[in-house]
Amino acid sequence: MKSKLNFNTNWEYASAPESQDHIQLADKYNLFINGKFVAPKKGKYFNTLNPATGKKIASIAEAGAEDVDAAVKAARNAYDKYWSKMSAKDRGKYIYRIARLLQERAREFAVIESLDGGKAIRESKGIDIPLAAAHFFYYAGWADKLDYAFPNRQTSPVGVAGQIIPWNFPLLMAAWKIAPALATGNTVVLKPAETTSLTALKLAELIQEADLPPGVVNIVTGAGATGAAIVNHPDIDKVAFTGSTGVGKLIQNSIAGTDKKVTLELGGKAANIIMEDAPIDQAVEGIINGIYFNQGHVCCAGSRLFVQEGIEDVVIQKLKDRMETLIIGDPLDKNTDIGAINSKSQLETIEKYIEVGKQEGGNFYESSCPLPSTGGYWCRPTLFTQASQSHRIVQEEIFGPVLAVQSFRTLEEVLTKANNTHYGLSAGVWTDKGSKIFKMTNKLRAGVIWANTYNKFDPTSPFGGYKESGFGREGGLHGLLPYLRLN
Ligand code: NAP
Ligand code: MG
Repeated sequence: MKSKLNFNTNWEYASAPESQDHIQLADKYNLFINGKFVAPKKGKYFNTLNPATGKKIASIAEAGAEDVDAAVKAARNAYDKYWSKMSAKDRGKYIYRIARLLQERAREFAVIESLDGGKAIRESKGIDIPLAAAHFFYYAGWADKLDYAFPNRQTSPVGVAGQIIPWNFPLLMAAWKIAPALATGNTVVLKPAETTSLTALKLAELIQEADLPPGVVNIVTGAGATGAAIVNHPDIDKVAFTGSTGVGKLIQNSIAGTDKKVTLELGGKAANIIMEDAPIDQAVEGIINGIYFNQGHVCCAGSRLFVQEGIEDVVIQKLKDRMETLIIGDPLDKNTDIGAINSKSQLETIEKYIEVGKQEGGNFYESSCPLPSTGGYWCRPTLFTQASQSHRIVQEEIFGPVLAVQSFRTLEEVLTKANNTHYGLSAGVWTDKGSKIFKMTNKLRAGVIWANTYNKFDPTSPFGGYKESGFGREGGLHGLLPYLRLN
């Protein structure tokens, strides 16, 4: 069935690139340890690339075990000498200062996030950076109110937190980790992902400017081995990890038998469920936002779409029409909907899954939108109809713009299908009936469930998974708990 909406796919917009004049980037970045930028002891550096061109932006220091050790020592010293002794109110003031400075420099951070990671400037400017600042504001407010958060309990910090984050929301994930840790009186050693270290290093500059006592926040860059050195360091009291389920399992194994606290925020394969009585046009926008937003590099991406049988044809047609209008282009252009895939290896993973999906027998469709010819890594929005529960593209996390579509008849059927996954991070339900929303949200095994919307985040709302999506919550009052001991 052809939808009545007649999208004009020949629109052309004049390019509207965000200015880069106001950003400052060095050619080379060192490690941020004990309040200073220091060269790595072994003198090793790696390149960070612009995924829209494949060209180098800067060299980044690779921290070895001896650098991680120096960072952990600095964090321990700062914990013992300053941070655990400071009044909670003063701690809060420092965190407010970080939040304000980040807000003031939001444009610069947004441009660097898009340059280094490939996401559209509309997202980094409208979502990532404001939300990161909002997290610092929110947790600054809790710093001197922990007694109210946990009445009749005595709270104490855990000590030194080792934090490891992925590349899909680089600054936002750093804020999710650092803000609650500082508010509860812990000190931090954080490692950003290898492909997206720049905004974490800019945050280090900002933390220096905010005049935090040296060693309260340390930022060490590097690859997986640097992360492992943090996890295995004997003087780390708590590990906070966001990333893949595979690495999460390695981390859990390596800290078994120690008394390190741990939270794991891992992968996902969210069900986005459209009932027959749903507002269809809004739902189509929700599907688009759920899977194509940030090139599908979203742990809670609505990568499994379930559409009730009676509306399947119209939803799929409207979805395809809408996909045709999406603009893939320069991440720094304000008209761009979908930026560059974060790295060559991630593009290869996505392309591999598209091949797997074709071999499994799903009906493949991709938008015909043109791809930029700037070099770099690009992928059109794609979908597979006639996907089935046993398909790998339905079971495995792809982390790219690939949607697997299935239909269903009854509520019970879709709940069973939606829960048939190792993951349980998030889900979406679209229906006009409040009673159905309650029934579905009670039965879906997912940590975050959106009703008649998708991918909405707020610092006051806890986020985290069930099953192999990990454990522990970040955000909200619950996000304080992993960083506290309660007596
Ligand atoms: P990843 O490969 O697991 O990497 C995550 C982080 O761990 C990176 O900083 C990585 O360093 C580091 N790392 C790699 N091997 C390590 C090891 N053996 N020990 C300690 N650290 C190690 O995941 P990714 O591919 O970057 O990110 C995508 C994954 O993150 C997806 O599965 C996604 O669902 C998940 N994610 C989950 C959430 C959530 O809140 N649940 C949020 C965002 C993303 P390098 O990058 O330098 O190798
Ligand atoms: Mg990069």
